[in-house]
Amino acid sequence: MESGDAFFEVLGDARPSLDGLIGRAGEASLSSMVLEDTGDTTLLEMMKVRWQVMRDSVRDGLEGDVPSAGGMVHRDGRRYHRYVSEGGGLLGPLPGKAAAYALAASECNACMGRVCAAPTAGACGVLPGVLLAMAEERSHSDGDIAAALVTAGLVGSVIAARASLSGAEGGCGAECGSAAAMGAAAVVELCRGTPVAAGHAAALALKSFLGLACDPVGGLVEVPCIKRNAIAAVHALSAADLALAGVVSAIPVDEVIDAMGAVGRSLPEEIRETGRGGVAASPTGKAIARRVHEGPAE
Ligand code: SF4
Repeated sequence: MESGDAFFEVLGDARPSLDGLIGRAGEASLSSMVLEDTGDTTLLEMMKVRWQVMRDSVRDGLEGDVPSAGGMVHRDGRRYHRYVSEGGGLLGPLPGKAAAYALAASECNACMGRVCAAPTAGACGVLPGVLLAMAEERSHSDGDIAAALVTAGLVGSVIAARASLSGAEGGCGAECGSAAAMGAAAVVELCRGTPVAAGHAAALALKSFLGLACDPVGGLVEVPCIKRNAIAAVHALSAADLALAGVVSAIPVDEVIDAMGAVGRSLPEEIRETGRGGVAASPTGKAIARRVHEGPAE
């Protein structure tokens, strides 16, 4: 069974409810509900494989020197990781590392390295960033992380079914916003928060990304995507922390997901991955795109 099949088995109908699944989980974690419902003994092992790919993508992003297609990668993951490791930074070690690792994994993607596209290649930095920082700073085991990835996968599957995970369809809220929601719910579970708190974390993360332009410069997943992943990773931790403290989303998570889908569909085509709006249409964005596609002036 593929991991996606397991989620579809749990979700059941075409319009699944995350609030309903949270109610069904009760006191148990969302991941244990999925594992129990599917009876799939291989799901955790599949998640461990994805976790290894995520860690490798961070390592490759930190260590690699392969140029990106658009030449817009400047090894910011390595730069920021060094800065955080040397005790610098305003954020502290956990969010600092999350941002550095998210940059690194996204840079790995831009350099055609191997990534885990969870939920998409464009937003592939958020989960590795958040989860590797949690594993290192809070000593979570691979088993803990694999279970948290089951919860992240459940959240992403509901978003995919009710709204979209595609920047072309729903703007960057559908990609980086969904990744932040998935990461926030996963972090709550790692911290032994309740499924209700995980739902609030996902809602808080997602609703703060509604209406975000998908505006890749030159149509390449480099600018603003890579740095947006870093900021989404920190954003996921903020949402999780609020929920763990008992802060709730006034709007239920299903309604936030539906709102994200509706807002995404209403976005003009220019800011839905066409590279014709947002920062892609700025004078500098256009100049970068010309350089990338036409080469340097003679
Ligand atoms: S700007 Fe568009 S291409 Fe870039 S990460 Fe966001 S949704 Fe993906």
